[in-house]
Amino acid sequence: MTEVEGVEVPTEHYIDGHRVASADTFEVRSPIDWADWKLADVARGGAAEVDAAVAAARRAFPAWAALGPGGRHAALSRLADAIDAAVPRLAAVECVDNGSIHEAMEQRVLPRAANNVRFFADYAAERLAEPPRTLHGGERNRVRHDPAGVVAVSTPWNAPFMLATWRVGPALAAGNTVVLKPPEWAPLTCSLLGDLADEAGLPPGVLNVVHGTGAEAGAPLTGHPGVDRVAFTGSPATAHVVYRDAAAQLTPVSFELGGKSPFIVFEDADLDAAVRTAAYQFDNSGQVCLAGTRLLVQRSILDEFLERLRAAADEIAVGDPREAGTTYGPLIHPVALGRVTGHVARAREQGARLVFGGESLGGLYYAPTLFTDIPADAEILQREVFGPVLTLQAFADEAEAVALANGTDYGLAATIYTGDAARADRVSGAVVAGTVWVNCFYVRDLETPFGGARDSGIGREGGHHSFDFYCDVKTVCERTALYAGEGGTP
Ligand code: NAD
Repeated sequence: MTEVEGVEVPTEHYIDGHRVASADTFEVRSPIDWADWKLADVARGGAAEVDAAVAAARRAFPAWAALGPGGRHAALSRLADAIDAAVPRLAAVECVDNGSIHEAMEQRVLPRAANNVRFFADYAAERLAEPPRTLHGGERNRVRHDPAGVVAVSTPWNAPFMLATWRVGPALAAGNTVVLKPPEWAPLTCSLLGDLADEAGLPPGVLNVVHGTGAEAGAPLTGHPGVDRVAFTGSPATAHVVYRDAAAQLTPVSFELGGKSPFIVFEDADLDAAVRTAAYQFDNSGQVCLAGTRLLVQRSILDEFLERLRAAADEIAVGDPREAGTTYGPLIHPVALGRVTGHVARAREQGARLVFGGESLGGLYYAPTLFTDIPADAEILQREVFGPVLTLQAFADEAEAVALANGTDYGLAATIYTGDAARADRVSGAVVAGTVWVNCFYVRDLETPFGGARDSGIGREGGHHSFDFYCDVKTVCERTALYAGEGGTP
């Protein structure tokens, strides 16, 4: 246990309802003041702890599954309420653990975490069952969503608590038990999730948390033969390893991965709105998978767009994420800073023109950065930087906009600003993306499918799609005439 911003945070694993230490620990530091601010020494789990957690989850599974969606609803509603009540504590810890803006955590991101649990608990209880269909021969066809078993969840650090609940919520609501591996660069709020599960009265073993590095704890978990589903959020590079390990058991995977998403602005767009949203792509120091980091702007409005974007970027205040008025805080880790500075250096070497930024502001803080006049084959147009670095390209017409938009290996999201509904529809259809925003950004309905195409992911979650993944979906075809009595409804 350690104290962070006045909050008691467990530093051990949470296995079978108990806090469990490991022989070794890893150090967690705050990106706000990396050199001088150590937050915790956290238990460094490995294959043994993963085995124990998977075994606990396996033992807890039959009783949790047997409760049915209605039976689980009360416990998961209590968990959602507990998260809601803990938002101030979670926000205080998350802000110093991963450098996210405190106000955004408290007001938007962490309340979404409670909603992730509540929405899927409600959905399972009220809407999962589909009406049976009667076949011509008189047989009744029913579709059942039965829980799959033990779900392994591995998530990244850029919104650790919210992203964990986005997977844990539907997995538990479907009747599975879960082993969560928090991100080692920001593990503290996920550690608190164990306490909240306890507080909500989840039976021991239903939710387990094993800390550790990706190689030492993540790999044994996602490749574990006792795991029935792997839900992984992270980079495509890691996903290749996870996919290979899961494939050894033919374990189904749901991958939500990185992006290099286009942000397309047509000359008929509301330019104020487009520029405001374009500047927002620097949010969270650019460490947002969905960020529209490739600005594609119609040539006729390019100069005006650039001038206005520069003015908007001048307003960005980079600094301590705990302070009101800060737009974005630090990068997460010195490795992330190294990656960003490397990308910027190579972009310059490869002939891209730096419009603004391109410099470290001390510590892990990095200036909002924009490149333009970029050679078509430059790395900066192809690879995810995951930092506050945008590129700007001009296009002549719709066809060129679509060609540029689809010119990477990714396909997570696309944003379109236009005043023309028919064009919005055409371009939405033509771009490769899991989510398309038109004249808006980042808003999401938990009911709708979410995921990525190409290297940005495998599968879709959200609403019914989540249950299709976390359940064994089965068809029961029954000749009800042979049942005793009425052959009643199950
Ligand atoms: P990463 O792939 O390096 O790590 C993600 C998590 O995976 C970490 O917790 C790590 O410990 C764990 N991990 C590493 N090896 C593992 C293994 N073999 N098995 C299981 N887990 C393992 O990613 P990152 O740099 O921490 O996160 C940033 C990436 O995540 C970016 O590419 C970003 O776009 C992506 N992301 C995607 C979404 C989405 O919803 N599509 C959301 C957030 C972040």
